Amino acid sequence: MQPRDTPPTQPPTPAAPPPAPPAAPQPAAAPAAGPAGAPRKADAAYDVLVVGGGVIGLVTAWQAARRGLATAVADPAPGGGAAQVAAGMLAAVTELHYGEEALLALNLAAAERYPAFAAELAEASGQDIGYRRCGALSVALDADDRAQLRELHAFQQRLGLSAEWLGGSECRRLEPMLAPGVRGGLRIDGDHQTDPRLLTAALVTACERAGVAFHRSLAVRLRVAGGPGAAGSSGPAGPAGPAGPAGTDERAAGAELADGTRIAAGQTVLAAGSLSGRLAGVPDAVRPPVRPVKGQVLRLRMPDAGTPFLSRTVRAVVRGSSVYLVPRESGELVVGATSEELGWDTTVTAGGVYELLRDAHELLPGLTELPLVETGAGLRPGTPDNAPLLGPTALPGLHLATGHYRNGVLLTPVTGDALAAVLTGGELPDVARPFAATRFGRTHQHREGRHA
Ligand SMILES: Cc1cc2nc3c(=O)[nH]c(=O)nc-3n(C[C@H](O)[C@H](O)[C@H](O)COP(=O)(O)OP(=O)(O)OC[C@H]3O[C@@H](n4cnc5c(N)ncnc54)[C@H](O)[C@@H]3O)c2cc1C
Repeated sequence: MQPRDTPPTQPPTPAAPPPAPPAAPQPAAAPAAGPAGAPRKADAAYDVLVVGGGVIGLVTAWQAARRGLATAVADPAPGGGAAQVAAGMLAAVTELHYGEEALLALNLAAAERYPAFAAELAEASGQDIGYRRCGALSVALDADDRAQLRELHAFQQRLGLSAEWLGGSECRRLEPMLAPGVRGGLRIDGDHQTDPRLLTAALVTACERAGVAFHRSLAVRLRVAGGPGAAGSSGPAGPAGPAGPAGTDERAAGAELADGTRIAAGQTVLAAGSLSGRLAGVPDAVRPPVRPVKGQVLRLRMPDAGTPFLSRTVRAVVRGSSVYLVPRESGELVVGATSEELGWDTTVTAGGVYELLRDAHELLPGLTELPLVETGAGLRPGTPDNAPLLGPTALPGLHLATGHYRNGVLLTPVTGDALAAVLTGGELPDVARPFAATRFGRTHQHREGRHA
């Protein structure tokens, strides 16, 4: 399979079932509602335009609308994106990697925020998001794995994290379906899960109820006012080409959509997942360094309730690749995930399915008896430091909410809170400050250039 180094004309992630028709938008200036409350293909104006209606764009729009801002989302398939594939682990501790201690603080804050967030969202949407306090178990299958897991445990302890070392038989007492060869493991009771498909569906409903307008079309160009790329002078949408250095009076002013709608917005949030770096019209200096990291995932069906199969998330490193099994209350068992740098390719490959099943089988031999009900692939929005980009850029009026990589479901609540703070004129919360959108060099150069 050849890597795709150009993005598809439509986002590649699986489309979610189309949500119910949107509630009437609340335009900040020019009325945008057509018959039946749907946005017209005419100019529309809002306080906030969110480009991308994946889990991150949706939570941003919901929190902005809850604070009284007239908000719109542009996305051909809101509620789709990587969350349709994601496992939904809320794995602040089990996903800890060496060198990612700063991200750990944000992940822990997100995990702590989750119960209240799930309750708020359930109340706002009338829908459950499958938040489940299940805990996790990271196991070792051979002596090398065991030594590495012991080291990881020592690292976790140095950071004050709660994780308990168990011998092989103790692991199997907790999860009797585990392979007899399991040599030991780390029990992490604070890492939970949610169902990302339920989460996005609830966010779409909550947005609709809060009055967010949905424009079901691709954004093809950022509108920039006050400089050479000013809204009035921007030509037809083209490929993302080099944008000239921004003049001091330039600011983001909304976006042009593929259906011809020109949206004006006081503040624009770029939340387009792995495609966030590709929107035309975004000056190079503030363009987010986001790349797609493909993940293939399988969905199996566990036996009916009454036949316990797996009660918590179980994971291991097998032949150097990480494999995890996430059991849902619904009976779904998610097996993931590959990690592949192949551009915007989302093909499910025989090799990917084979490797996941082979590794999962080493962990839980009984798994190969289960029905395989779905395979899929999604794109994690990766950044150079594996951490998200949050808040204002050096281009006034343009914010980022992207780059959540393998933790976007976990980070949904804190991202909503952080973006709501900046969109209402406040600062990034302390815990989010290390992930400011301005932290990469290009943006700093832009800032220096603008003030030189
Ligand atoms: C296999 C896999 C497993 C994962 N497991 C977990 C997990 O267990 N726990 C966890 O926390 N996270 C997990 N993640 C990560 C998580 O899914 C992502 O971080 C998260 O979904 C990113 O959300 P997003 O909204 O930023 O981007 P996306 O989900 O990619 O959504 C982007 C949206 O933007 C839209 N869009 C793109 N371009 C445009 C445009 N020009 N105009 C308008 N709309 C546009 C797309 O249609 C899409 O709806 C996993 C990801 C994968 C792939």
